Amino acid sequence: MKLATRLVHFEAAPKDPYRPKATPIYQTATFEQENADSLGEYDYSRSGNPTRKVLEDQMAALEGGERGFCYASGMAAITSVMRLLRAGDEIVSDYDLYGGTSRLFAKVLPRAGVVIRYVDASDPAAVAAAITTKTRMIYVESPTNPFLRVIDLVAIAEVAKKNDLLFAIDNSVMSPYLQNPLQLGADVVIHSATKFLCGHSDVTAGVVVVKDKALAEQLYFLQNAEGTALGPFDSYLLLRGLKTLKVRMDAQQRSCEAIAEFLTTHSKVREVYYPGLASHKDYAIHMRQARGGGSLLSFTAGSAESAKAIAERSELFSISLSFGSVQSSISIPLKMSHSSVPVEMTSVRKPPADMLRLSIGIEDTEDLIADLSASLDSI
Ligand SMILES: *Cc1c(COP(=O)(O)O)cnc(C)c1O
Repeated sequence: MKLATRLVHFEAAPKDPYRPKATPIYQTATFEQENADSLGEYDYSRSGNPTRKVLEDQMAALEGGERGFCYASGMAAITSVMRLLRAGDEIVSDYDLYGGTSRLFAKVLPRAGVVIRYVDASDPAAVAAAITTKTRMIYVESPTNPFLRVIDLVAIAEVAKKNDLLFAIDNSVMSPYLQNPLQLGADVVIHSATKFLCGHSDVTAGVVVVKDKALAEQLYFLQNAEGTALGPFDSYLLLRGLKTLKVRMDAQQRSCEAIAEFLTTHSKVREVYYPGLASHKDYAIHMRQARGGGSLLSFTAGSAESAKAIAERSELFSISLSFGSVQSSISIPLKMSHSSVPVEMTSVRKPPADMLRLSIGIEDTEDLIADLSASLDSI
């Protein structure tokens, strides 16, 4: 079954005698047991819940993994993966990370004694050179946000394998519809499900999928021990959003490609960052490992004032954090999502003050271009 089919054809309610087409919301904290000396399939919703289980199985299938886990947010998912490490362990990470991940790495992991070595992971040799006897994990996003840099996932997976390291990738910007890192050699794939998987800006959630059974056991233990799992109602909303992942992403990506082309020819635009443009530095690598450029792009407008004016004059692009929604949005990464970049890293990864990031929704493409055109012409 192809992914588009799997999105809508799966067992929505295993063992339910009424055979509903949509997964019921099992809004219960605990489950009555038949016997006093043994537990049934479900006993307590922190440990397992039927609505969440359908979602977790669906995510594992979509990413081609052994088992999936759903959490209360993308950050909870990333944190759970970090709990696989111990004091003294090291991570080699690409320097270009989601703002919340940067904060976790800079301010929380050091308390647990975990050391992070930042490199430019678009250069696999730089990753290999940063590995020490204490390294346990390689961590990347691809494409990165907001620079839309591309990491060669197959090359990094080889470095990880050679050194017996876990390779974890945050796949939020692509979703399983466009990129499946486990099939490229990664061990752990993470999503902020708040973005494309949900698609409607109405749930915060996170996902982890792994292909190794022993690793899955460890993650299950942590999810239950720390109580980080996603609730039944949010699991239901996410299952509902996921069904339209393909149609949303196809429409959003089609518009994004047209908008990227439009921006590259506009006289007020300095630079366009989009991995779906053949002029992108790593277009070939990206297209080898993904099935499209996605619907996130950044561009520079020449000055901070121009960027602010474009964002504020736009009528169809709402100024908001986050991405992946059916509604288009615009943001100034330096002032919004990336304001918490640690000072010691600002020289390499601080977004320029004139950079704008667009997340393209499912509105009419011509309407979106007309709106951007009016904003650009006004500066
Ligand atoms: C939003 C985001 C996260 C964090 O997810 P939350 O659901 O907001 O906790 C992590 N990684 C990336 C790439 C993101 O865009």
